[in-house]
Amino acid sequence: MSAASTMDEVFDRARAAIPGGVSSPVRAFGSVGGTPRFIASASGPHVTDVDGREYVDLVGSWGPAILGHAHPEVVAAVQEAASRGLSFGAPTLGEVELAEEIRRRVPPAERVRLVSTGTEATMTAIRLARGVTGRDLVVKFAGCYHGHVDALLAAAGSGLATLALPGSAGVTPATAAETLVLPYGDVPSLEAAFAAHDGRIAAVITEAAPANMGVVEPGTFNAEIRRVTAAHGALMICDEVLTGFRTGPSGWWGVENDVADGAAALAAAADQGSGARARTPATSSYSPVSDLAADVRARRDDPLAADAGPSTTAVWTPDLFTFGKVVGGGMPVAAIGGPAAIMDALAPLGPVYQAGTLSGNPVAVAAGLATLRLADDAVYARLADTSRAVRTGLTEALDAVGLAHAVSSAASLFSVAFRDERPRGWDDVQAQETFRYPAFFHAMLDAGVALPPSVFEAWFVSAAHDDAAVGRVLDALPGAARAAAAV
Ligand code: PMP
Repeated sequence: MSAASTMDEVFDRARAAIPGGVSSPVRAFGSVGGTPRFIASASGPHVTDVDGREYVDLVGSWGPAILGHAHPEVVAAVQEAASRGLSFGAPTLGEVELAEEIRRRVPPAERVRLVSTGTEATMTAIRLARGVTGRDLVVKFAGCYHGHVDALLAAAGSGLATLALPGSAGVTPATAAETLVLPYGDVPSLEAAFAAHDGRIAAVITEAAPANMGVVEPGTFNAEIRRVTAAHGALMICDEVLTGFRTGPSGWWGVENDVADGAAALAAAADQGSGARARTPATSSYSPVSDLAADVRARRDDPLAADAGPSTTAVWTPDLFTFGKVVGGGMPVAAIGGPAAIMDALAPLGPVYQAGTLSGNPVAVAAGLATLRLADDAVYARLADTSRAVRTGLTEALDAVGLAHAVSSAASLFSVAFRDERPRGWDDVQAQETFRYPAFFHAMLDAGVALPPSVFEAWFVSAAHDDAAVGRVLDALPGAARAAAAV
């Protein structure tokens, strides 16, 4: 069988058995055209397709693969866990250790509930926010993607952006009406929303650093969201599904708040009487919703907890975090984290229900734990270096052909927009020469580099991208820039 026919044959079979031939829309080459690469195996910085062609991979499973693919220690941890049984429907030590590791890195996540996908994490965070505040509305920002939760599919990025969908069919008008979509980075419109819906907004959910409409650099917007939500008794949900433990050891929260080591920074902040602080663990395991709402409000009045104002350390801390991707190291694990006073509202302690047959699955948790334990400072330094090298090469290549472009970054995450200025939100992101990306993408693919198949996605590097892999990317960029300029 010829090389080309294997891929085409598999794609034909896929389309006959699976809608669009893919299990998740962003995998299709919807906006770039052509046959998606069906992957047979992956190792380190490479993926190999069913035709036996190897690519330097800058998708990284859309985020989880910070160590590269099939890291031997992660694979060994998975094999060892699998040999002890695949799923028990009962708690395990591994779950405890993963929750502890998340809390060590992000101390405001005093309690952590493990789920299987980022979508479940954000869905649960929203339900929890509504449960503890007794309010109904949720604010999200245009271009931010938080998974395929009904309430969060309006003006979402990622695959909806790629397919130019304003939302999803099948979401009822009643559900859509409970979500207010605001422009990212626009503080006056956020304040106006709270003024117009006083006492009704349960939570504002934001990507810690937006990366599902390409990367949009958040500037001071997170601190502003914290200030406004705190003033109105609403919860701030920081969605770190994509950024968490990829942009730094304590996620994007750690980057913006200069948290090199979560536990140490928090202790120091508490000593100084400013910034984030460790909260006293809750002694009672269950609080009625009204008490929880009061506790949330009380916390807002506490200058140590609210993190408001122009402090230079620990500027902001959200009420809830959502994590995913890296926490599972390539296996299905995601998490919700926050203070005990809020998290203990979850069943079985509290009235907000959430559950999962495979939540905290022992094999998946083993992959996440092994990955986080290996993700040390050297890993983050390598991600930063690789990202910088590729960003520089990208800019040089596009400059050389005189193409308008802006490269935006959030730590090692980055993306390119074919426009003069870095986009500040969804309207800017759309105001670019998107028609150039398919040619750019396919030229890279032909040169052996797999990019995300959409201009509205971030590029993902890994610690396994060695000099040879980075060199292949840098060698491919000038040709891709010429192809983009020729369109
Ligand atoms: N939130 C963010 C910020 C994401 O990037 C994603 C996935 N790309 C999700 C939530 C949803 O995660 P999952 O695909 O695991 O459901």
